[in-house]
Amino acid sequence: MRALCWQGKGRVQVDTVPDPTILNPHDAILRITSTAICGSDLHLLNGVVKTMEAGDIMGHEFMGEIVETGSGVKNLRAGDRVVVPFTISCGQCVYCQSDLWSLCDNTNPNAWIPEKALGQTTSGLFGFSHMNGGYAGGQAEYVRVPFADVDPLKVPSGIPDDKLLFLSDIFPTGYAAVERCKIKRSDVVAIWGCGPVGQMAIRSAFILGAAKVIAIDRYAARLEMAERGGAETIDYEDCDDLEDELKSRTGGRGPDVCVDAVGMEAHGTTVVAKLDRAKQAMMLETDRPYVLRQVIQCCRKGGQVSLPGVYVGLVDNFPIGVAFNKGLTLTMGQTHMQKYMRPLFDLVEAGRIDPSEIITHRVSLEDAPAAYRIFRDKEDDAVKFVLTPGAPRVLRDEED
Ligand code: NAD
Ligand code: ZN
Repeated sequence: MRALCWQGKGRVQVDTVPDPTILNPHDAILRITSTAICGSDLHLLNGVVKTMEAGDIMGHEFMGEIVETGSGVKNLRAGDRVVVPFTISCGQCVYCQSDLWSLCDNTNPNAWIPEKALGQTTSGLFGFSHMNGGYAGGQAEYVRVPFADVDPLKVPSGIPDDKLLFLSDIFPTGYAAVERCKIKRSDVVAIWGCGPVGQMAIRSAFILGAAKVIAIDRYAARLEMAERGGAETIDYEDCDDLEDELKSRTGGRGPDVCVDAVGMEAHGTTVVAKLDRAKQAMMLETDRPYVLRQVIQCCRKGGQVSLPGVYVGLVDNFPIGVAFNKGLTLTMGQTHMQKYMRPLFDLVEAGRIDPSEIITHRVSLEDAPAAYRIFRDKEDDAVKFVLTPGAPRVLRDEED
């Protein structure tokens, strides 16, 4: 089959690789009809998530049709249409049973790696490094889905892939990022990053009743899309003092909820931001906490800070005193996908939200290397790429 493979820092290519097979009675094989590129894939491309190996198949946002099931899979059969969450969970351990699916105890065959770093393991993830289980991802024609009787969400025909695909990651991720902040009707929510996760968080904040959403980024196309979602916007490159600007828009208090939908590769032009970049390059800190510091600094006293943006290791100058003295609540983590997929499907089916409105590019799986580059460099007003296996190629790669 054809699949998008990581080849080294900054290099991905579509290769012909062996088809996946059933390895465990609880596996299914999925023929992928749609797959997407996530901001998290950029952390892999950029080499900041370690334990990737040349040839690893990437991709963790996908859906399709079941073509084969193992003998232990009782609730799915060939022909079923499913969306698959990016977190692989067993459904049986104390964490899954507590709706903390991304913390599953049983699905990471390389548990010893996170155990060394974190003290405990987290769940396996599709296409997301050996530290997270080394599972082949879904930017491919087919993928093996472990725990197929637990994780995938069966969906009816009649709703197009474009509206359902993001139930695999960014819709639950954006939704959970604001839902766990227990939004009240009068709340002002500030969201850093107007990428796919930020866009879904904006729309989710309104569904959950936010009075106002202020979205922050520097790309005009992304800010315009945020405005179409109902947000006020700030281009941080045109803003001398973000903290002051946010205070002036919130009656002098600061936002009630601050969401970091940027993560460990935040961009910044200040001396502090440049220092972070240099330290990350020299491996003196693993993550660039530029936005992390801002969300803590800008949040009102007693407010909620939510971090859907991914962090992997250690940061310097974490403003713990600001967070402590303002009595902030910090929440974070990989999304507990299986908790949200069914209720969010219901919202899509009811027409309350159409996640497909953030798709800017529909291309072939064969176009993936060029698509990764365009998405990484935020060219061509790109916000979200959807890749279709088997579709004709439409992009030219620099290396052609
Ligand atoms: P993306 O790269 O498309 O978007 C990030 C956005 O942040 C960009 O638009 C960029 O311009 C903006 N940005 C950079 N520096 C900024 C700054 N200083 N201030 C404001 N905005 C800034 O990525 P995405 O797909 O939207 O993902 C965002 C983050 O969410 C990533 O870290 C990704 O790994 C993470 N993520 C987490 C989960 C989870 O389960 N927690 C799931 C999916 C994605
Ligand atoms: Zn993702």
